[in-house]
Amino acid sequence: MKVHDVVIVGGGPAGISTALHLHARDPSLAERTLVLEKERYPREKYCAGGVGGRALKTLARIGVHVDVPSVPVTTVAMRTSRETATMSEPGLGQVVRRIEFDHALARVAMDRGIAVREGAGVRDVVATADGVRLVLADGETVLAKVVVGADGVGGVVRRSLGLSGGTLRAQVIECDTDAVATDLPRDTLLFDWSDRSLNGYGWDFPTLVGGQERVCRGMYVIRALGPDNVHDRLRAYLAARGLRMEDYKLKPFGERGFEPGEPISKPRALLVGEAAGIDIATGEGIAQAIQHGEVAAGALSRAFRTGRFEFADWKRTVLASRFGRGLFARLVMYRTFYLHRARAEQALLDNPSFLQLFAQDFAGNRLRLRTFLRAAAAAQPQDVPWLAQMVRDAARGAPHVRTEDAA
Ligand SMILES: Cc1cc2nc3c(=O)[nH]c(=O)nc-3n(C[C@H](O)[C@H](O)[C@H](O)COP(=O)(O)OP(=O)(O)OC[C@H]3O[C@@H](n4cnc5c(N)ncnc54)[C@H](O)[C@@H]3O)c2cc1C
Repeated sequence: MKVHDVVIVGGGPAGISTALHLHARDPSLAERTLVLEKERYPREKYCAGGVGGRALKTLARIGVHVDVPSVPVTTVAMRTSRETATMSEPGLGQVVRRIEFDHALARVAMDRGIAVREGAGVRDVVATADGVRLVLADGETVLAKVVVGADGVGGVVRRSLGLSGGTLRAQVIECDTDAVATDLPRDTLLFDWSDRSLNGYGWDFPTLVGGQERVCRGMYVIRALGPDNVHDRLRAYLAARGLRMEDYKLKPFGERGFEPGEPISKPRALLVGEAAGIDIATGEGIAQAIQHGEVAAGALSRAFRTGRFEFADWKRTVLASRFGRGLFARLVMYRTFYLHRARAEQALLDNPSFLQLFAQDFAGNRLRLRTFLRAAAAAQPQDVPWLAQMVRDAARGAPHVRTEDAA
């Protein structure tokens, strides 16, 4: 029976990015790689489709340009109970429809000769010291030297291999709605943190549905911070904009945050993208998935060069990469923001440099020294101990934080 060198489970941004970066780095290994995708393209993925510019830049470095209808965005807005702060950044990103974006990305992979098998859902994965056996939904067996779990938040690879799912989970719900008079300009991504009782935020992203201008609105609620009801939250959020939830198709889904304390590999297996965990602070995961694929391709290529398939250092490799450092910084941001919410909001509003750093990171632009210095200069000496504690907690993977009372 044929043994593939690499089998990637999941043909979303993480899986296809891993395959494309393998192709760019090690074409002969990519020839011995197979992507298994349970759906058939074009397939839907519930998502607001806000793609940070750094995802597009990561793909552009290997000559990949995803040509789909999109809304270019130049500005990020953060709304708090006090005011709405905005920051513009060149090349901030765009809003796409995932049904189109993921299909186009997979088509690029297929055009480059990468084997992508659609309608191939994996039911079980067994990894031993000698190799990996995957059982598909129809009972067929596929053999591989290495498996990559790129199968998203509820991935079968993680579960089959007995890797813990962690505790940083979020509930998300969205719908594509009409525009209203109070909407910000269509080049702006709005993150609405104005309700301090909400362990998360609402969003308004401009989008294009079948060529029609719409606004994707949703609620992102971090379950790890306490129970909540996303439906009720969305109903109130839409009502505040004069919209009725009943008028729109609701799209609920879950998300998983990256936790440095949780395992993301086993001998002959590694996880990427949302299977490994993405940014819990904002739930942004498309760019992370694409960047994760780039780092994974390096690790896979190294493993086949050296004949070492333990992947014991996969998490260290991720955390040492620029992408991993960004993910870690977002985790610190999450803990800092929700543990010290009133103070953090104040700091964000008082000092535009923080929002500018976020926009520069989202866009994938060089983080400017000047911005760092301005943000550092604005930090109060009394803030340093709690910031340092946050970093230590995040490094230890302390599971929960509490929301500071709004008062
Ligand atoms: C409502 C909502 C809104 C969001 N909005 C944004 C946003 O605006 N911007 C942003 O950056 N992120 C957003 N995210 C997060 C983002 O959608 C994900 O983090 C991102 O899709 C992760 O990519 P991935 O490739 O790791 O996983 P996925 O995109 O989930 O891809 C996994 C793939 O694996 C396949 N698969 C699953 N199981 C199997 C199996 N057993 N066998 C074979 N194939 C399998 C699936 O069909 C799928 O194609 C949002 C998420 C939600 C839920």
